[in-house]
Amino acid sequence: MSEAILDRLRRLRAGDAPTHGGRVLAYVYDAGLPELDELADEAARLSRPVNGLDPTVFPSVAVMERELLGFVRRVLHGGPRTGRGIGGAVGTVTSGGTESCLLAVKTARDRWRSERSAAIPAVRPRLVAPATAHAAFQKAARLFDLEWDPVPCGADGSVRAQDVVSRLDADVALVVVSAPAYPSGALDPVREVAEAARARGIRCHVDACFGGLVLPWWPDGGGNRRVPPWDFRVDGVTSISADLHKFGYAPKGVSVLLHRDRRDHRAQFFATTRWPGYPVVNPTLLGSRSASSLAAAWAIVHRLGDAGFAELARSIARVAESVRAEVESIAGLQVWGDPAGPAVTLVADPDAPAAVRVDPHHLADALAGRGWRIQHQPGFVQTDGSRLPRSAHLTLTPVLERRIGEFRSALTAAADDVRGRPPADARGLARAMRALGYGPGGRVPGPRAASTLLTLAGAGTVRPDRPMATLMALIEELPAPVAEALLTELVARLSAPA
Ligand SMILES: *Cc1c(COP(=O)(O)O)cnc(C)c1O
Repeated sequence: MSEAILDRLRRLRAGDAPTHGGRVLAYVYDAGLPELDELADEAARLSRPVNGLDPTVFPSVAVMERELLGFVRRVLHGGPRTGRGIGGAVGTVTSGGTESCLLAVKTARDRWRSERSAAIPAVRPRLVAPATAHAAFQKAARLFDLEWDPVPCGADGSVRAQDVVSRLDADVALVVVSAPAYPSGALDPVREVAEAARARGIRCHVDACFGGLVLPWWPDGGGNRRVPPWDFRVDGVTSISADLHKFGYAPKGVSVLLHRDRRDHRAQFFATTRWPGYPVVNPTLLGSRSASSLAAAWAIVHRLGDAGFAELARSIARVAESVRAEVESIAGLQVWGDPAGPAVTLVADPDAPAAVRVDPHHLADALAGRGWRIQHQPGFVQTDGSRLPRSAHLTLTPVLERRIGEFRSALTAAADDVRGRPPADARGLARAMRALGYGPGGRVPGPRAASTLLTLAGAGTVRPDRPMATLMALIEELPAPVAEALLTELVARLSAPA
């Protein structure tokens, strides 16, 4: 009976994109070290039955958490500085990057309210960040009722410090910069923004969910430029998020949020004695929580140590250099902006003649046909009306170094497949939807209408190997609320009970 159930799961898993081996350049982070996965599995198994809700009942949770936080805080230069009266950063292990970002925003909002509300009554606090900041911050703004104030980036995906700083007024509860930003791989101007924020008494969060466990060991030189300080070395950085389930190589479900100031960390907590049940003390959004991912991350960090992380970072840096060199040799395609760290984003060369240009979404579809997955990112109109190009994101991991030659050949061959092919055109579809009332300022489709529209768009069913270029083009054309309703429908239907 159990065997049959597991057999079925094995068959289902065989239909998934491969989580190991480097063929999927997003979502999964493979160090290429099977012994590390085995260690993580065993640690997770040992802690599986534990409830992370209460470290007084399960002290192993507190021990692993403080050792993990101690490691991350040291590499992010947040350790105590004796003589300067700095006690060292403190923080919490969370369930992932989104939860770390949500908690950073909630904390800053609560602290802003308690410090500012008397002086500035009845305003909604503002959350300022470059437009390339992770969507988790928009989610936080919605959940915690802040005004989302994205700062437009240049066409190369980078933001000018001055454009961020000029928005920092007394109603700003938090400014966010990224190290690096996920869509572009660009390192935001952390020092300039954090120092200006500090001068104005505004908190500054560095979202290092992506880079937090690679950039500390990123090598200088070669084709890789030096990474300027972006962590607690920079005065004015008040909190940092770093995901252990990305370049900490842990299974999903673990991230870290660190605060420079103890009072900020305490403000993150929810505690209540005002119910007839057990006294509740939650540092995170969740109540009962798994200790498995914590245990896996803890074991990996002990096993790798600085030397292990440094070696893996060097491997990724070599991969990054190699991928950039290959892209430079491909006519009609280029790397977007100036990425720092383990992400590279591809865009069509805007200066190339149309007959030579390589559309990144066709490229991603062609690569999928060759067994490689890179991530489609739709073009984006910013609040000032300027456009960021459609692109394809590549997360580079150590395991890719083993088949880098194979990947470079596939990249060039896929570009040859699609060179000169015009970008997918969804204007006709968007026009048809406008005629049905789903245009700008129009209706937002409910579940039934959204289903019909998806079928109209040829996206009624999804399979992992389905070309995405047309769907992405449609997202670019539709009003955001309509596109969001269609995508919600698409995904919600996948898990509708049979
Ligand atoms: C991945 C990521 C997040 C969100 O993390 P999840 O773990 O997917 O919830 C936030 N910020 C950046 C820069 C990221 O790369």
